[in-house]
Amino acid sequence: MTEETVFTYGAPQLKFGEGAADEIGYDLAQYGARRALVVTDPGVAATGGPQRIADAMKTYGIDADVFDGVHVEPTDASMRAALEHARANGPYDAYVAVGGGSSIDTAKAINLLTTNDGDLSEYLNPPVGAGRAPERPLLPLVAVPTTTGTGAESTTVCVLDVLELKVKTGISHPRLRPALAVVDPALTVSQPSGVTASSGMDIVCHALESYTARPYDSYERKSPEQRVPYCGANPVSDMWAERSLALLAKSFRTAVREGDNRQARADMALAATFAGLGFGNAGVHIPHANAYPIAGQVKSFRPEGYPDEEPMVPHGMSVSLTAPEAFRFTYQARPERHVHAAELLAPDLDRPNDPAEHLPRALLSLMHDIGIPDGIGGVGYTEGDVPALVEGTMKQQRLLATSPREVSADVIAEIFKRSIALW
Ligand SMILES: [Zn+2]
Repeated sequence: MTEETVFTYGAPQLKFGEGAADEIGYDLAQYGARRALVVTDPGVAATGGPQRIADAMKTYGIDADVFDGVHVEPTDASMRAALEHARANGPYDAYVAVGGGSSIDTAKAINLLTTNDGDLSEYLNPPVGAGRAPERPLLPLVAVPTTTGTGAESTTVCVLDVLELKVKTGISHPRLRPALAVVDPALTVSQPSGVTASSGMDIVCHALESYTARPYDSYERKSPEQRVPYCGANPVSDMWAERSLALLAKSFRTAVREGDNRQARADMALAATFAGLGFGNAGVHIPHANAYPIAGQVKSFRPEGYPDEEPMVPHGMSVSLTAPEAFRFTYQARPERHVHAAELLAPDLDRPNDPAEHLPRALLSLMHDIGIPDGIGGVGYTEGDVPALVEGTMKQQRLLATSPREVSADVIAEIFKRSIALW
């Protein structure tokens, strides 16, 4: 095998800090935009934030409409409906996504399909779709995350459920990356503590999974057209992951306990941004692959702080539930990284004698403190559900390829079984 010697790094432009969201009209004008569509979901729209952002754009001569029909956890049907709206009311020359990953991902799909030919299904990742690449450049997309954590503002993917096939998949191409990320911590102050806990665990896992990901130089050498946005752990993504973990150690528990603590909120927003700038290039692995079926096969669990019409396991929560066990498994691939990550995340932790236990222990203590359910059993799964969960995980081959240790269905089954109860 010829070893890979090249890694790549991509990121959106970034504007960070309280008040940053008021300046979007200025930034759009720099791209020559005159007419923008603000894309959001009904819950975020109810806070008035998206309309305020649209109104503030007028000061800079930008005319903006607000579309508030994004479906939380988007589907192919909800993305098609959003696209219809954009086509019927457009043309626009820029898009602004305000909300969580669902709004940002829906805006990515609108942007792709209003600038390029073909149907949504052609662009989906194989084997579900044909993995078609856009031929023409996309319009400027400004991503304004209002729930800290998803990292969607930094990434080149959009994730959706294909209803007919009952599968979660995505579209992945460098052109999907937003042109500008506007991170304004003032927008997250109204976030309930349950949402802060869950989305914060997503940040933790983004940082830990990209830091422990299979290193870029352990893959076979690629030709330029084969290069993928997620190239494995590399020196640039490592740096972001380490800084993110240190900020989480300082402020995560405080942000959950005191929602209006502005310093803690700002630290969490920065931690989310750092983790996004890292994993948006390195990739994530087992905990995220397991999260797909944990969220997708939900029974009746209804988390605190979320709209209670539908049962759901929020993304960050579903990612965290198997993380302690997943890192027990990956430890032996890169022991020194697991130990160092535990030191960063929990500097004051009582260290067990066995260094393989440092990171699981750091995670369990954090998850317990912030009110994450006790394992996949805590969100309604039993041992009888494990085969179906394993099947769902094994479909996420793109993510599992980033694991530092090779994974089989048996390994994943063992991780799920040991994650039924955590403490
Ligand atoms: Zn995530």
